Amino acid sequence: MTLTGKVALITGSTQGIGLAIAESLSARGATLPLHGLCAEEEGKHIAAACAARWKVPVDFFPGDLSDPQTATALVDAVVSRYGRLDIVVNNAGIQHTSPVVDFPLEWWDAIQAVNLRAPFLITRRAVRVMRRQGWGRIVNIASVHGLVGSINKAAYCAAKHGLIGLTNVTALETATDGITVNAICPGWTQTPLLEPQIAARAAQKGLNREAAIQDLVGEKQPNRSLIPPAWIGETVAFLCSDPAAAITGASITVDGGWTAH
Ligand code: NAD
Repeated sequence: MTLTGKVALITGSTQGIGLAIAESLSARGATLPLHGLCAEEEGKHIAAACAARWKVPVDFFPGDLSDPQTATALVDAVVSRYGRLDIVVNNAGIQHTSPVVDFPLEWWDAIQAVNLRAPFLITRRAVRVMRRQGWGRIVNIASVHGLVGSINKAAYCAAKHGLIGLTNVTALETATDGITVNAICPGWTQTPLLEPQIAARAAQKGLNREAAIQDLVGEKQPNRSLIPPAWIGETVAFLCSDPAAAITGASITVDGGWTAH
C-alpha cells in the first residue's frame, strides 16, 4: 500500500501517539506537516530530526487548538502549503482528572476545546477540500473513554464520547464522497499523557514507577501491558489503505480487551 502523493495532517504529532502515526504514514510515502503546541523552534527541531530519520521533507506547523480560529487556520495553512489535504488525524488531546463535584470549569472548557471542538472545526474545513478531491480519510483518536466511563474523567469522557458522535455523523454525511471517517479507541498507551496519572498512583500507594504502571494498567486493561504508540500508527495506516474503503463510521478499539468486559 502506498500513500505517495497524499498529504496527511496529524494534530499533536510532535510526540506520543501523533508522532507514531506520522511515522507509520511517512513509511508509506505520505507528505507530513507535523503539528504541535510546542515552541516553533522546538517543533522545527523535531521536524528536522524526523526528516533525517524518514528521509522525506517534514515541515512544522505550530498552533494552539484551544483557539477556534487557529484550528481552522491550520487546515488552510496546510492546503495553501501543499495544494491539497487527503488525510486528517484529529489526535491532539489533553487530560485532567478530578471528581465531578470538584471539576474545575477551566479544565472542563479546555478539554472540550482541544479534544472535541478542534476536531469539529478541522473536520468542517477538511471535508470541503476532500469532497473536491473525491478522496479523503479522517481518523479521530478517541479513547476507550469514548465508549465507557472511568471515575475522575468527566470532561475527558464527555469529549471522547462526543468525538465518536462527530465521527458517526460525519461518516454518514460523506459516505458517497470517497471519504471515510473513523475513530480509534486506544486503552493505556505508552506516552507522556499518562505521566501525571502514573505519578499520582505512585504517590497514593507508595509504589515505584514500574509498580504504579502495573497497578494502573492492570486495574482495567486485561492484557496488563501498555500499548506501544506504533500499534495505533499502524491501525491508522490500515484505515488509510484501499481495502479499508468500506470501513466508515467505525469505532475501532485497540485496548488490550478493556471494553470486552
Ligand atoms: P501526548 O500528551 O503525548 O501528546 C499530545 C499532543 O497534543 C502533543 O503533540 C501536544 O503538542 C498536542 N496538544 C496538546 N494540547 C494542544 C493544544 N492546545 N493545541 C495543539 N496541540 C496540542 O498525548 P498522547 O498520549 O500521545 O495522546 C494523543 C491522543 O490519544 C489524545 O487525543 C489522547 O486523548 C488519546 N489517547 C491517549 C491514550 C494514552 O493512554 N496515552 C489512550 C487513549 C487515547
